Amino acid sequence: MFVDVAKIRIKAGDGGNGAVSFHREKYVAAGGPDGGDGGRGGNVVFQADSNLSTLLDFRYKRRFVAQNGENGRAGRCTGKSAPDLVIRVPLGTLVKEAETGRILADISTVEPVVVAKGGKGGWGNCHFATATRQIPRFAKPGLPGEAFEVTLELKLLADVGLVGFPNVGKSTLISVVSEAKPKIANYHFTTLTPVLGMVKVAEGKSFVMADIPGLIEGASEGVGLGHEFLRHVERCRLNVHIVDVSGSEGRDPIEDFETINRELQNFDAELASRPQIVVANKCDMASQEQIDAFRVYIEGKGLPFYPISAATRQGVDALIGAVAAQLDQLPPIRQYEPEPAPQPEPLEGGKRPFTIRVEDGVYIVEADWLMSSLGMVDMEDYESLQYFQRVLIKSGIIEELERMGIHEGDTVSILNFEFDYIK
Ligand code: GDP
Ligand code: MG
Repeated sequence: MFVDVAKIRIKAGDGGNGAVSFHREKYVAAGGPDGGDGGRGGNVVFQADSNLSTLLDFRYKRRFVAQNGENGRAGRCTGKSAPDLVIRVPLGTLVKEAETGRILADISTVEPVVVAKGGKGGWGNCHFATATRQIPRFAKPGLPGEAFEVTLELKLLADVGLVGFPNVGKSTLISVVSEAKPKIANYHFTTLTPVLGMVKVAEGKSFVMADIPGLIEGASEGVGLGHEFLRHVERCRLNVHIVDVSGSEGRDPIEDFETINRELQNFDAELASRPQIVVANKCDMASQEQIDAFRVYIEGKGLPFYPISAATRQGVDALIGAVAAQLDQLPPIRQYEPEPAPQPEPLEGGKRPFTIRVEDGVYIVEADWLMSSLGMVDMEDYESLQYFQRVLIKSGIIEELERMGIHEGDTVSILNFEFDYIK
C-alpha cells in the first residue's frame, strides 16, 4: 500500500541530572565536591532510506522516544549521553510541526537531520565550588528534550511530472522511456500510486520522471484520486502535460488541456506557472486535422508542442531530447528550507510567579514557566542573551534580587545557567 502522509509523535531524550557528591577517602576529612554532570539526551534524527518508498510503517508505529541521558555520579563521573534515535523515511519526506504546519526538515538528501534536540545534561556540583563557596550542595537538573507532534509528507523527488487525464498514455510513456513498469490498461485509474522512472538521455546524463494518477475535473477540490497525488509534482522542475489528441474517449483535446491546467491552478498557482511541455499522444489513432488543430492552439499559447505515439514510440526520442534540453536551463529540484520557530514574546500579560532562595551565597531562581521560555535559549548567542535579559527585567526577577540585597559579582543560578550579577 502506498501511504504518503502520516502523523507521529517524537520526543528527544531528557538530559541526565548533575550529581551532588563529595570526595571521600580514608584519612581525608572533607573532600571537595565531585558530583559529575548528567549526560545528554538522545536526539531524534531523520534519515532518508532509498529502500523505502512509502510512509506505510508509520501507520503502525506512531511514537518515537529517544533515551534520556544518564545522571552524573560521584567521582566526577559524567553520565552517559544517550544515542540518537534514527527514524528512516523515504527520500523526499517533509517533516512538519503538526500544530503549526511549520517545516522542520526536508529529508531530500542522504544527510541525517536532527529534528528534536536532546536536552543538555545538568552540571554536577563539582562545577559550583568557588573560593567563597566550598561546599556546593546543589547541582543542576538536566533539560528536557524537545518533543513534537509531526506530520510526515512524502513529496517525491522528480525532475519531470507527467500530468493529464486518466487513460491518455502517461504510464505507457514512462514505460517506454525508463525501466519503470507501471500497470497499463484501458480503464481509468490504473495507476494508483506514483511511479518514478529514471530516463537515460546520454552516457552519464539522466533525469527522473514521475507518473502520477490521472487528474480529473474537480481533482483540486478532492474529487477522485488526483488531488492527493498532486503533491508529488510540487517539486518537479517541469510539467509534461499529456493529452489524448485522438479524442478516443469522446473528449476534446483543447478542453482537456484547459481543464487540467485549471486543476493545477486551483491546487497551487505556482505549480500551474511551472514550465510546461505539451504532448499530443495517440497520434497513431488521430487524424492529421486533429493534430494540426491542437498544434495551432498550443503553439498559439507559446508552448512547446510534441506529437507522439507512446505505443509505437513515434516522436518519443524528440520529446525526451526536448525535455532534457529544457531541464538544462532550469533550476534544480525544489528543496524546502526549515522554518524557524517563532520567538516567544517576553512575558505578555504581566509578571509570573517565581521563587528565589539563597544557598551557599548563590541566588537560585526557580519558576515553572522559565523552562518553556528559556529552555531553548542559546546562551552563546547575543540576541538570545538580550532576550534572556528582557525576561529577567520584565518578570520582576531583577527587582526582587536587588530587594534581597544582591551585590555586584554575586552568583545567580537559573535553570542550567549561572552568571555573575552585574548592575
Ligand atoms: P494513463 O492512465 O495516462 O497512465 O494511460 P495508460 O498508459 O495506462 O494508457 C491507457 C490506454 O491507452 C492503454 O490501453 C494504452 O495501451 C493506450 N495507449 C497509450 N498510449 C497510446 C498510443 O500512443 N496509441 C494508442 N493507440 N494507444 C495508446
Ligand atoms: Mg497510468
